[in-house]
Amino acid sequence: MIKPICRLGNPVLRKICKELTKQEVLSDSFTQLKQDLKDSMKHYGGIGIAAPQIGIELNVALIELGPTNRYGAEISLPATYFINPKIKVLSDSSEGNWEGCLSVPGLRGYVERPNHIEVTYFDELFIERILEVKGFLAVVIQHELDHLYGKLYIDHIKDLSLLSFQEEFEAFVLSQK
Ligand code: ZN
Repeated sequence: MIKPICRLGNPVLRKICKELTKQEVLSDSFTQLKQDLKDSMKHYGGIGIAAPQIGIELNVALIELGPTNRYGAEISLPATYFINPKIKVLSDSSEGNWEGCLSVPGLRGYVERPNHIEVTYFDELFIERILEVKGFLAVVIQHELDHLYGKLYIDHIKDLSLLSFQEEFEAFVLSQK
């Protein structure tokens, strides 16, 4: 079911989400939550969504990066639910991207993040998985998983002159590329 998206200012976006147990992950209500996340992400055109963005304080995020995504990235990831994920940074090098967020509609901001990480998480059968990723996908994963710890991409913007409305971003930043 498509759920309304919680936006900046809603306290649920600043909560540390509760970790899930195996019993919870295998429950019918969790199956419903997974469907709600998928329906909502597709409806609003996101490449990722975290449970608090639909008002649920549980430690799960969904990411799906198709080969033809609107960010022009060449890397792809099939729909993956990250349950109780933990990130380990593997490299000091970082990369900058103009990020956007369903919870901060209409804005884009320039954020630098580590670009080589390892994510340990539980899958839908509560089997532990490890994923090593580089580049844009590493950035997307860090953005989504931040939501589970009450963080938003705007918290990482070092230079606030690099926060822009979408239309101005397209007119003044994209046109410079
Ligand atoms: Zn977001």
